[in-house]
Amino acid sequence: MKYLSTRGDTTPRGFCDILLEGLAPDGGLYLPERYPRVDVATLARWRGLRYAELAFEILSLYIDDIPPADLRRLCEATYTEAVFGTPQITPLKPLPALAPNGGTLYLEALSNGPTLAFKDMAMQLLGNLFEYELGRRGQVLNILGATSGDTGSAAEYAMRGKRGVRVFMLSPLGRMSPFQQAQMFSLQDANIHNIAIEGVFDDCQDIVKAVSNDLDFKRRHAIGTVNSINWARLLAQVVYYFAGYFAATRAEADGVSFAVPSGNFGNICAGHVARMMGLPIRHLVLATNENDVLDEFFRTGTYRVRGTAETHETSSPSMDISKASNFERFVYDLLGRDGVRTASLFGPAIAREGGFSLGPDAVARAAGLGFQSGRSTHADRLATIRRTWEQMHLLIDPHTADGLKVALEQLDPGVPMIVLETALPAKFAATIREAVGLDPEPPAALRQLEALPRRFTAMAADVGAVKALIESVCAA
Ligand SMILES: *Cc1c(COP(=O)(O)O)cnc(C)c1O
Repeated sequence: MKYLSTRGDTTPRGFCDILLEGLAPDGGLYLPERYPRVDVATLARWRGLRYAELAFEILSLYIDDIPPADLRRLCEATYTEAVFGTPQITPLKPLPALAPNGGTLYLEALSNGPTLAFKDMAMQLLGNLFEYELGRRGQVLNILGATSGDTGSAAEYAMRGKRGVRVFMLSPLGRMSPFQQAQMFSLQDANIHNIAIEGVFDDCQDIVKAVSNDLDFKRRHAIGTVNSINWARLLAQVVYYFAGYFAATRAEADGVSFAVPSGNFGNICAGHVARMMGLPIRHLVLATNENDVLDEFFRTGTYRVRGTAETHETSSPSMDISKASNFERFVYDLLGRDGVRTASLFGPAIAREGGFSLGPDAVARAAGLGFQSGRSTHADRLATIRRTWEQMHLLIDPHTADGLKVALEQLDPGVPMIVLETALPAKFAATIREAVGLDPEPPAALRQLEALPRRFTAMAADVGAVKALIESVCAA
């Protein structure tokens, strides 16, 4: 399988070439040159596979530059009960009490990995792929990132102790939730470096950009990223759409729908890929919070990125985005894979006009690709968390609540609806307390986290100081 850029560069590259890269050289995102089709017989054969086996089958369709025996070993090492808490890895829980008039509703658990959010599903695989590929090449990589919580911890838990990889993660000093701080700063692995910046998340982000824009420094120190536009992350997420489908259906004629709490459009883009491969997905229901850039697009055909002042701080913070970094992949497909047109929309049009409009025609075509959308507010989240608690004695996190709220609006009685759980409630205790008046318990293994010794470096928001720290670690 070869990969090409959404902005028209068709220089063929293999999976391992793009694994360690961010954007394509022309500024686009990488996509496979085609989506492999999976027929009914293959689906029937995959039904009943263990998660790691299913991951191997799907990944092999996209990866031909890793020997199959090695790829199988990497999948088996990643998707284990020890890491994800259950043998099914992403078990489905029926929510009968919440579904009106005979509809079928499920929650797919994606948050039982080490950092209690679905990002572990992809990041854990990425850690193993990076270690493997860097080892083959005899290279090292210094991952530099900024986090306000979820992504940074998922990256650190995936890369801890991995050969050839160091992580330098910037976070705003004292601004993450106590649980998130404890999660990251308690890591004692020598290759993990937490840098707490005196400032806000944007200051951290600006430092990462400034360091990455110093091309000489970037090359000398082999600086890389693990951000959400990485194709390998997206590919890893395709697997749980198949796993959810198998768990909710009995035979290959049945279709299912998925409801996906969305921010940067990574998670639901994986659903789009699964559907393009032939998985019988009826609807992909996109849920936003008050930051409704994407809901607006699927209703009107207009994509209008927001400024900082227009971006709300909400109680589902991992969906607080001003623009959706993965959305370009979907628009490329929506435009019949026209790279020139995609380049003109995401380059100049966004820079000049802050967005673009594709009109009602695009809305209809997106609906034809299964997309529906809706939005949820703080009051909706609280009501949904409360209702799920009262009717099912189940606590869900605020992001998952956004997904469930919109799923219920779009529920079709004949089609099972699978809501993707994107985090556990323990990560967002304050909102749970506000909704139901009690504190969500973290899993037993994590209850002592906040008492553990911490290892981090606090420093001013200064590019030079961050560079000096990276330099001294690399020289040691
Ligand atoms: C990252 C994240 C999301 C948004 O996922 P995207 O792939 O960016 O759309 C939703 N919920 C939680 C808890 C997250 O961490």
